[in-house]
Parts: sequence; structure tokens; C-alpha cells
Amino acid sequence: MSLRRQPSEERLLAFGAGTLSAPEAVVVATHLALRPETRAWADLAQAVGGGVLEDQEPSALDAGALDKTLALLDAPAPQEPTVRQDKTDPTLPAPLRGFELGPWRWLGPGVRVRDVLGPRDGDCRVILLKIAPGQSTPRHTHGGVELTCVIEGAYETEDGVFGEGDFEEADPSVLHQPRVVSSKPCLCVAALDGQIQLPGRLGKLLAPFVKL
Ligand code: ZN
Repeated sequence: MSLRRQPSEERLLAFGAGTLSAPEAVVVATHLALRPETRAWADLAQAVGGGVLEDQEPSALDAGALDKTLALLDAPAPQEPTVRQDKTDPTLPAPLRGFELGPWRWLGPGVRVRDVLGPRDGDCRVILLKIAPGQSTPRHTHGGVELTCVIEGAYETEDGVFGEGDFEEADPSVLHQPRVVSSKPCLCVAALDGQIQLPGRLGKLLAPFVKL
């Protein structure tokens, strides 16, 4: 398992410090819930970081913050009183279970998307993507940062295969077209900042129909 399949160290430390935006934190939490080995790394980083922090004043990082955050991973996300149980999905990893979900929407052949309602920071929000075997998303780049964690199945890009629990970080410099290589549909959670952008003339034609 490649180390690139997990969040960057900076992002993990920001998660532990509680400084990640809510949408990004939900995707990182999903990865940590599915990947005990990253969680072990985060524990170690916190132990080392805690030692360093003892010698530094003042510090923005609460040495116990990561412990508290990691403890939350095994519990479903806290629910707003207005969350309708029939619109949540108890089969999702714990960090996603407490959120109300929007209806599935068509994004392309074999590609559906639904909103995870709640975690939002400006234009950044959380979506679930379900892609049928052999299908791919439209070839796209990004208006901002895109963090993706695979919940079920697997997809492939120029960077290789991303399987269950794998984490991908993309930004406006990345042009990719994830294609599902598992025999079952691939379900992913993504934090997306801004709209995806489709290059070329075909992209311009499709853009009004491909809204995330
Ligand atoms: Zn992308």
C-alpha cells in the first residue's frame, strides 16, 4: 500500500488540531475509520508532536486534540435535531452515518452523485459518488481542492488504482478521469471546493449538465 494513498502529513496534523474545514475533516475521518494503519501513524505523529510542543509556547495545537478527534471516529456524526432518519444511510462508515443525504442525481452514464447535507465551508461541500463497473467520471480538472476517499470498490487514474479506504488529493493542476476497475460499483466520498471543470469543446457542451 503506497503512502500516497493517505492524506498528506500536513492535512492529518491539521485534522488532529481541529483546524481542517468541516467538509475536509469528514473525508479524512472516513479514511481514518477505514484505515487503522493511518490512524496508527496519526497517533504516532501526535505523540511526537506532543513532545515537541511541550518545549514551545504558545502553540495552536492542543496536544490532546487528536486523541479526542480519533475517539469520535467510532461514533456516528452528531445529528442535528432536524435530521430525518429516513434520509440517512446507516451502512456508511461511522463519520458519515449521521448526515442527511440529498437525492441521487445523474452525472453521466453510470455515474450518480448525492449531497451529504451539513458539512460546508464556503463553496466546499461533501458529496457521495457512485460509479458503475467499467464507467468513468467525465475527464475533469478542479476549481479548488478535491479530497476523495473510496468507501467501496476501486477506481484507476494515471496515478494507479485507488481501493477501499484509499485517499486521493487533487487540485486545479490535476486533470484526471477516474475509471472504475472493481466488479461492483465504486462508492466514494469527496470534499469538493468549487465546480469541476471539463476541458475542450465537448466539455463546454456538457458543462451545463455536469454540475456537482
Ligand atoms: Zn477530480
